Amino acid sequence: MIIGIDDTDSNEGMCTTYLGALLLDELQAYGTVETLPLLIRLNPTIPYKTRGNAAVALKLNTDCPEKVIAHVVSRIEELARMECEKTNPGTVFVLEKDYDRLKPILRRFLEKAVRDVIEIEEAKSLVSESGIPSKGFKNGRGLIGALAACGAMLNLEEWDHTFEYLAYRQNEKWGTPREIEKESFFEADRKTYPETWDTVDLKNRLVVCVPHSGDPVLFGIRGENPAIVTEAASLIRAEPVERFAVYRTNQGTDMHLLSVEKLTEIQDMHSYRLKGTVSSVPKTIHGGHVIFTIRDEKENEIDCAAFEPTKNFRLLIRKLRPGDRVAMSGSVSSGTLNIEKIEIKNLASLYREENPICLTCGKHMKSSGQSQGFRCKKCGTQATSKIMCEVKRDLTAGLYEVPPCARRHLAKPLVREHRSDIDINPAR
Ligand code: ATP
Repeated sequence: MIIGIDDTDSNEGMCTTYLGALLLDELQAYGTVETLPLLIRLNPTIPYKTRGNAAVALKLNTDCPEKVIAHVVSRIEELARMECEKTNPGTVFVLEKDYDRLKPILRRFLEKAVRDVIEIEEAKSLVSESGIPSKGFKNGRGLIGALAACGAMLNLEEWDHTFEYLAYRQNEKWGTPREIEKESFFEADRKTYPETWDTVDLKNRLVVCVPHSGDPVLFGIRGENPAIVTEAASLIRAEPVERFAVYRTNQGTDMHLLSVEKLTEIQDMHSYRLKGTVSSVPKTIHGGHVIFTIRDEKENEIDCAAFEPTKNFRLLIRKLRPGDRVAMSGSVSSGTLNIEKIEIKNLASLYREENPICLTCGKHMKSSGQSQGFRCKKCGTQATSKIMCEVKRDLTAGLYEVPPCARRHLAKPLVREHRSDIDINPAR
């Protein structure tokens, strides 16, 4: 059977992946775990999310599904942060006899949950019409993520994936500062990058795989396969770990992105791949955010932003000029694209007026006075007007990304791009 769970945590504590890791151990009493658990990231713009909009799925071979259901429901009742208004847990159970029937239905649901917005009623109708055993707590919004995670487990071969090794803290340490040896994370990165990524942010000298909130996660190592994330984790020196789990995940895959031809198709709370021509000089606004506009062939425009947390990425964005052709990916909120990656396809030629050059000595002429043209002091040559000179751009065409400290979970890091047609510039 497949078990989907979502929405058990609050900002103060817990984490649905921790509950997943706990259940992986506990459910051994009822059967055998068949494959790696799934950590599925859903639409990153959903306002109800606590942190990264994650849901979890486990697959178990068992001949007592009722006992499994009772156990999972009771553990959610015990551990979920029900007191938090935003915590609305949901769990669903897909029985083996229903795998084939539910596979396409839940695949569509997964895609919608990652790229679009779903009403709770839609999840509740699906559960009742398809006869899926389930339990929603409070308003039951977690049913959305739980169904989507089951859809991912039923359709494993259909989506690109990466892995994350999640280490969890001992219970008594929850809520206290994490004791870690920072240098060991840099060492793990040196030994396993580029097969692992987002362990540290080299340019900003930050360890980025250790959260700061009250949840049970000590660190999470992301990478291309289970062996490499396990190797990297073995190099970490930190406080003792209560347990760990290696999850298969859609993190780092760009699964959230929709393609659009016209900028008018763009809606808030969705994420896109889009292209256009820069149509305003980037400006830095209050808070250090850098904003500019792009235009499509039909003259429609959209605001694009490199927000303050994207740090040094803003230096690159500030160098864009009207006429540059770009393709970008990111999420749209309040009508503004929050840039995750940018491909600078073509740089506009920029010109600056300069005094004319003397054809005899090659030096710039001097003005002879207002409306009197220009004259070379040395050779006496003359010219009537200024000339236009091309300005050398301090920017190169290529593919760029925000630094690891600002990366969205679903955004595919450039180390995973295997393109030979363009310069790839990972933010390292
Ligand atoms: P947790 O560790 O508890 O999973 P989180 O940061 O992942 O924390 P949730 O607490 O799960 O966030 O909150 C997200 C809520 O939004 C869940 O109830 C989930 O079912 C719901 N949700 C996820 N994707 C969508 C979507 N596309 N449309 C509407 N609701 C969604």
